[in-house]
Amino acid sequence: MQPRSLLRSAFLCVGTLLTLVAQVAHADLLIEKVTVVSPEQAKPQPNRYVLVRNGRIAAIGDQRLAVPAGTARIDGRGKFLTPGLMDSHVHVSDAAGLPHISSDPAIAELRQAYFRQQPRSYLYFGVTQLLDPANLPEGIAAFEAQPRHPDLFRCGAAPALDGYPTVFVEDKALRYRLMPYVFEPANAQSHPLPAGEDANAHTPEAVVAQIAASGARCVKLFIEDGFGDRSDWPILSVATMKRIAAAAHQRGLLVMAHANALDMQRIALAVPVDVLAHGLWNWNEWADKPGVPAAIATHLQAVHRANIGYQPTFRVMYGTADLFREDTLKDPAYAKVVPPAVLSWYATEDGQWFKRQMRADSKDASDMQMMHWQIQVADHGMRAARYLYDLGHPLLLGSDTPSAPTYGNQPGYDTYREMRQMAQDGIPLAAVFQAATINNARQFRLDKDYGTVAVGKVANLLLLNANPLETVRAWSLIDKVVLHGEVIERETLRATAK
Ligand SMILES: [Zn+2]
Repeated sequence: MQPRSLLRSAFLCVGTLLTLVAQVAHADLLIEKVTVVSPEQAKPQPNRYVLVRNGRIAAIGDQRLAVPAGTARIDGRGKFLTPGLMDSHVHVSDAAGLPHISSDPAIAELRQAYFRQQPRSYLYFGVTQLLDPANLPEGIAAFEAQPRHPDLFRCGAAPALDGYPTVFVEDKALRYRLMPYVFEPANAQSHPLPAGEDANAHTPEAVVAQIAASGARCVKLFIEDGFGDRSDWPILSVATMKRIAAAAHQRGLLVMAHANALDMQRIALAVPVDVLAHGLWNWNEWADKPGVPAAIATHLQAVHRANIGYQPTFRVMYGTADLFREDTLKDPAYAKVVPPAVLSWYATEDGQWFKRQMRADSKDASDMQMMHWQIQVADHGMRAARYLYDLGHPLLLGSDTPSAPTYGNQPGYDTYREMRQMAQDGIPLAAVFQAATINNARQFRLDKDYGTVAVGKVANLLLLNANPLETVRAWSLIDKVVLHGEVIERETLRATAK
């Protein structure tokens, strides 16, 4: 062993030790006289006593509950205790609105400020579990290096060679290094294997093995042949995706698919995948029809029958529309979740780069027109989600933050806005609550540890000032966040807090 790696492993051991110490350092905690609101309960449970030990819920009872001496106490009178929220579609390696690649040190500094605040912003809005379906190892490491962060789970991306999303990376050497791509023999003519590459390393089975070895719990497929007028990006054949799904299931991994157009979601159903990472908002030839046309209804019924997880991801469209609104950066919530230097930069000429690019791609349409198009597409997604809900389909909360390089998607705040959008779509508050907690926990096989307020579960909890079954605003009226038993005052998580 080289001295340098010896040093590094010594350092790692110290790190592990410190983490252990930090975990046992939290005293036992009693939240007393609180109203427990848990998604599996038909109604709130008033005047409960919840005891937390070693980062988990140890007991729940009434005033007779045995409490060890020295237990810290929180008065829960007038407050509501819920499980922490899970957002099952976020990208922690992407800094909203900031360029990915830049040689400018000022941009690098802004990116660092963004990544330092990011986990705090999620916690600020009560998001204590995240699933990141497509990421870069550096982004994951940077996220987990922050002193306090939500529990992070992830998928590994398996894009087609030269397909979405790596198609945006113009430097081909970088494109091929970024994610373990799958070589599609059916596309060999138009997208041959790059010179010097070994085909055996890019089979469905090899790519799934690589993803499984990285510690991911799911594989993400991309069924996307182009945005807007484009439809020339290569996608994998159903036969290849079936092999990916078989290899993934054999290793206990789920399969999630990016697909938001009717023709693309039909392919996802033919595989079939376990989770659709987006709502159905591109209705192809049915786009101008009112209500829910028969072809759309038939497809959604098939999604329901096949028991496929469904993330409406309304914020993808609204977060893009927000780029074209004048007041977006003046939203008071932005000052809470965006570092001041990043917020000021968004307002500069440079900070408007993605807005300019989108406008240029749309023949210099007016801001109002740009916004209108996005909202029109979002409206399809709203109708589809509502239709699925009415069928009795359990929805999953996933905001897709950030879905594009738009500053219209911000960590934590967008999770909240996704929930608000669900409520505005007529989805009852109890179902919005389930989407954010128990449904996500069950779908991603995390319900042993998360999703309800129950003995034995991880003590990731929220103390709210309002009842979330009465108003969706309760999710922004957070008093305290409990993370593995540690009590965090919400306002200490603000972007401007010292
Ligand atoms: Zn995404």
